[in-house]
Amino acid sequence: MTLSYPERLSLGHFPTPLEPMPRLSAELGGPELWVKRDDQTGLATGGNKTRKLEFQLAEAIAEGADHLITLGGPQSNHCRQTAAAAAKLGLSCTVVLRGPPPDAWRGNLLLDALLGAEIVFACSREREAVAAELVAARRAAGGRPYMIPLGASTPLGALGFVAAMEELLAQCRERNVTFDRIVLASSSAGTQAGLVLGARLFGYDGRILGISIDAERRDMEDRILAIAREAAQLLRSDVTIDPARVEANADYLGRGYSVVGATERVGIGLPARTEGLLLDPVYTGRAMGSLIDLIAKGQFDEGEKILFWHTGGAAALSAFAGDLTPLDS
Ligand SMILES: *Cc1c(COP(=O)(O)O)cnc(C)c1O
Repeated sequence: MTLSYPERLSLGHFPTPLEPMPRLSAELGGPELWVKRDDQTGLATGGNKTRKLEFQLAEAIAEGADHLITLGGPQSNHCRQTAAAAAKLGLSCTVVLRGPPPDAWRGNLLLDALLGAEIVFACSREREAVAAELVAARRAAGGRPYMIPLGASTPLGALGFVAAMEELLAQCRERNVTFDRIVLASSSAGTQAGLVLGARLFGYDGRILGISIDAERRDMEDRILAIAREAAQLLRSDVTIDPARVEANADYLGRGYSVVGATERVGIGLPARTEGLLLDPVYTGRAMGSLIDLIAKGQFDEGEKILFWHTGGAAALSAFAGDLTPLDS
């Protein structure tokens, strides 16, 4: 089926590689594991936000924006990719980060600064309120700011992952491989929403399991479903999304968002030592650690093929050095 997507910019390197992980699979002794390398999207160390920004920023350009404003955590991969996209497009950019300024500028925060973004710390205030004020002030001064919501998880941004599903299925045909299941880290939900809609549109029959990073299961599934449905409307598609196809697991929230524990240390350590593959402390390390635990608990069938969707984030590793050594304790 050929869909007519809205306007889209080219900001990254696509298709991203699809690779088997034989040594990690053997180490775990369960399903055959593969990885989709969206950590290699090419935009200032890459990540999943690049796909969303290709659609979201096409709208910004069409509206004549001269400045991008977005928000995130202090180690936001989304803010870093937005800052990089702004630089590439010749726009200025402000990122509003949660909390006070940290002691040292490491990881994504360092990259935000190098990429030329203005960095505003929300301190004790809500990031959304601070960002809304900045938008209003720029507008009042005659500027044309464009606000990108958290994680670019708008229905428009999610179309990046509808296209990603189309890309994956073409690779699967070429490589003659099919996956029973896709596992990914879900937070603001646009990534999984796009994949779920793409699966429906392009006929992927496997299951898609989001490991929730920061929300209870029902909340996460509701978010995914809502974005997927609105994204379908943007494509003027009348497909329906079956709620049963929207699956999140919220058993691995640990001690909260961005708090590194045993799950993350194992999730980062094993793929690093067996595949030379770097995951991140907040999202993919938690999702991989969860997948490893689910495999150990016998949740998957022996012959199953599982695709781990690597959404990026390794740029944050250096900011978590103290939490990550020793890796498998
Ligand atoms: C943002 C992010 C996610 C979560 O994607 P959502 O679309 O917000 O659910 C996962 N992994 C990494 C590395 C991210 O930066």
